[in-house]
Amino acid sequence: ATPMAVMVGTGLGAMNGILFKNASALEDATKLDVIVFDKTGTLTMGQPRVVDVIAAGQASPDEVLRIAAAVEHGSDHPLALAIIERAEGLTVPDAQSFLNLEGKGARAEIEGQTTFLGNRRLMDEEKIGLDELADAAEQLKGAGRTVVHVAGGGRLLGIVAIADAPRPTAQATVAKLRERGVQVAMLTGDNAGTAKRIAATLGIDMVLADVLPGQKAAKIQELQAQGHKVGMVGDGVNDAPALTQADVGFAIGAGTDVAIESADVVLMKSDPYDIVGAIELSRATLRKMH
Ligand code: ADP
Ligand code: MG
Repeated sequence: ATPMAVMVGTGLGAMNGILFKNASALEDATKLDVIVFDKTGTLTMGQPRVVDVIAAGQASPDEVLRIAAAVEHGSDHPLALAIIERAEGLTVPDAQSFLNLEGKGARAEIEGQTTFLGNRRLMDEEKIGLDELADAAEQLKGAGRTVVHVAGGGRLLGIVAIADAPRPTAQATVAKLRERGVQVAMLTGDNAGTAKRIAATLGIDMVLADVLPGQKAAKIQELQAQGHKVGMVGDGVNDAPALTQADVGFAIGAGTDVAIESADVVLMKSDPYDIVGAIELSRATLRKMH
């Protein structure tokens, strides 16, 4: 039979917007010694916006933005929405043969040219020379910006810098978890430079960056193989396998349905600080059981 304490615990959680889907999650949460947070949409607001556009060669920033928006019209990635929004008012050409390149970016045919847009890994794969804007890109990453490269006809057209503000309680969440003896890590498909900068401002020293969507669960498994009990907090479709793999998966309430379905606990207020509440509640509940 379910002990009364567990019923009270899950009930108290629900009243505070922390939905434990099963009793074992409440018990397992007491054992967690590492919490892994997804970056975009979990530690950050997930509302990226363009803060800078830098053109290479003869191109103008508007030209870079026009081409970038043309590719992104085929995408529903949060970065795509930011670029399309910023290109409002410009004449955006039509794109053909759009192809999403998961965890890297996208490609399309625009005005007769094969166009690639995305991260450094994609540009390296496509042998696009980045030298002209390499210093600018590094500087932007060092400031915590996500850098999206735009290339057409085999050469770099420019870069788009995107910012996504941390959630207001993210830093306090990290501090409190550490105080409670829990290690904190960040897991992201974004590049290491950007990820480390944002992690540093939040007090996180364990950063798993440049992780392709299909590799997120394996990263959790690696930590478990080292003997850790791992909690994972995420919001995206990308995060679902990692949420399932984790000892306890926590979904941000405003996140995607897939993440919510894959999680053991749903943070209805989409506030990462509720992780602290969830762990405190589980510890208090288990004390009452023994
Ligand atoms: P995250 O883990 O931050 O959700 P993703 O795995 O979706 O990231 O993507 C990883 C990286 O690939 C992004 O940080 C970005 O640099 C690049 N990328 C992926 N899709 C796009 C896109 N549609 N437009 C621009 N960049 C993209
Ligand atoms: Mg996310």
